[in-house]
Amino acid sequence: MEEYLSLLPPASSLTYACIAKAFCLLTVLYHGKKAYGLIESMLTRIKDLAAKLAPRLIEIRRHIHSHPELSGQEYQTAAFVAGVLSSSGLHVQEGVGKTGVIGELQGTSQNERLLAIRTDMDALPIQEGTNLEYASRAEGIMHACGHDVHTTVGLGTAMVLSQVAEELGGKVRFLFQPAEEIAQGASWMMKDGAMENVSAVLGVHVFPSIPAGSIGVRYGALTAAADDLEILIMGESGHGARPHEAIDAIWIASQVITAMQQAISRTQNPLRPVVLSIGKINGGRAPNVIADKVQLLGTVRSLHPETRAHLPNWIENIVANVCNTYGAKYQVNYRQGVPSVQNDYVLTQLLQSAAEEAWSSDRVQVLPEPSLGAEDFSMYLEHVPGSMFRLGVGYKERIINYPLHHPQFEVDESAIITGVVTMAYAAYKYCQQCQQNF
Ligand SMILES: [Zn+2]
Ligand SMILES: [Zn+2]
Repeated sequence: MEEYLSLLPPASSLTYACIAKAFCLLTVLYHGKKAYGLIESMLTRIKDLAAKLAPRLIEIRRHIHSHPELSGQEYQTAAFVAGVLSSSGLHVQEGVGKTGVIGELQGTSQNERLLAIRTDMDALPIQEGTNLEYASRAEGIMHACGHDVHTTVGLGTAMVLSQVAEELGGKVRFLFQPAEEIAQGASWMMKDGAMENVSAVLGVHVFPSIPAGSIGVRYGALTAAADDLEILIMGESGHGARPHEAIDAIWIASQVITAMQQAISRTQNPLRPVVLSIGKINGGRAPNVIADKVQLLGTVRSLHPETRAHLPNWIENIVANVCNTYGAKYQVNYRQGVPSVQNDYVLTQLLQSAAEEAWSSDRVQVLPEPSLGAEDFSMYLEHVPGSMFRLGVGYKERIINYPLHHPQFEVDESAIITGVVTMAYAAYKYCQQCQQNF
């Protein structure tokens, strides 16, 4: 052999080195591609499984849509969800947080980290105004916030992942939450241990201004903190013709409202929004009698925790100044509702990359602005990091896609598959990343 080699021209040592390097490179490329191919094939499998499930998922969504139930009364929906989860082989727990359901996918991994996927199930007290064949059959109740779609996406994700559970590399807990619209369901479920051992949580909400097929992610604040406000103003009754002998609670209430709105524009940092809306006023007895008592009810929205923290005192000072000026007594009841949804950077990146790999980057929007709406998904984020994405459900060809909570709100059902694949693939990627760090 040595003899043979020695017969080769001297330049050949360089050639051998090149061949060896090329071989190494090919080996690396081969193994790299193999690893990449493994992930790619899981994405393909998830997409195939979701596509096969599409007709069933549309059936499920329409069933839930035509049988909406109000917050805290999701009995039929919960039973239906539990049935689908059981038949997909998940370990099911009912009656969590009153009418909530948990489905757990155990897998075979030693990875202790547990991902929660949260969807909500309740409908709104709205009379449906669509002419859909599967419109609500419950008088005055409608899935006008898309929670029927969320439940379906949760179920679809569970059905898909149950078929790849062995290769998932982690555990996933599906939370089907009740009573999101009254901002109670997340707390109820957590009281019953829904977040025990959970490491991270993902969520989804439909969004009619994003076309179906696309999704939106947002880094940081997604929704606002929403607090409840009650102001009582106590004056003194009297004859409508002699205001100087009375203390007019209605007029003072109007001064309080005006003072608060003006003070927002002059004393709050305009880059840290505060929205205060008085939505209900009760007071007065007759047109010619000066009111002695007025109740104002409103909602206060903010994005920054520091801003939120000083709002109760700020409001009380304004009310006190106005009432003291005109001789009225007052009481301010400020109740903290849900905090702002603050999406975790790493998990938002995970959702974005999962969606971009699944659908291409032009179908993934990084949302420039938060919403001043509220979401009790934020309650889970008090305990673990998480991220919620916006699922586009708008019809591309329609000029008007009615907003959430509108009697004519509709969704393009093709979005369901986009939601299922995005969620299932993000869950897979999460489990894989945890396994690598395990
Ligand atoms: Zn809603
Ligand atoms: Zn909602």
